[in-house]
Amino acid sequence: MSWESTTSYYQLINQQVKKQLGGLHSAKIILNSIDFEPLEILQHQGDWEGCASMLIAAAQNIEAAQADCLLICTNTMHKVYPQIASSLNLPVLHIADATAGEIKARGFKTVGLLGTKFTMEQDFYKGRLTHDHGIHVIIPVASERNLIHRVIYEELCLGEVKDNSRKEFLKIIDNLSSQGAEAIILGCTEISLLVKPEDCLTTLLDTTKIHALAAVKFALLDNKQPLLS
Ligand code: GLU
Repeated sequence: MSWESTTSYYQLINQQVKKQLGGLHSAKIILNSIDFEPLEILQHQGDWEGCASMLIAAAQNIEAAQADCLLICTNTMHKVYPQIASSLNLPVLHIADATAGEIKARGFKTVGLLGTKFTMEQDFYKGRLTHDHGIHVIIPVASERNLIHRVIYEELCLGEVKDNSRKEFLKIIDNLSSQGAEAIILGCTEISLLVKPEDCLTTLLDTTKIHALAAVKFALLDNKQPLLS
């Protein structure tokens, strides 16, 4: 939901549409880019209903502009997915469902999860992967979770990509692999700005890319049936 990862979504969606349709084709996108600071304050106050109200208002504008589906371009704010989805009449493509689809297609059973502390520690994301999709999820230890959370909010959401932080993330990825993770979910849409597939041998599941491609797949279906609600 920081604009740093919104630009990634915008690029990925357009690149994929161009790849599939060719020529000068590009994606029809209605982008409601919110001011992240007040939302981030509400998150850290634990005011999730306040977050939901902000995002519902933004999502209703998208619906009024006649979009066929909605993406909430962050893992963390899927915390309020139920409130948003139930306020709309259009499908909202859940980032954890798209990610679970990729995990299952690639045959992984146990994965590591990196994200904000909200995403790693609460049940709205891990729980969906485990209970709805049967995927075993491992999270980093508390000190590692604190580091990841700090880097997300104090560096990546501000566009700062630091070598030292990359090294720390790679150590955490190694630790998760040694505990049996067959792949690592980059479960925060800014992490792929820091850690790239070429940085490590472990398979990285980039939720930004997975979610963006799920939207293109949905949009280019001839018969748009709600896939997810
Ligand atoms: N974009 C991040 C995520 O995917 C964190 C920032 C936010 O809260 O949206 O979780």
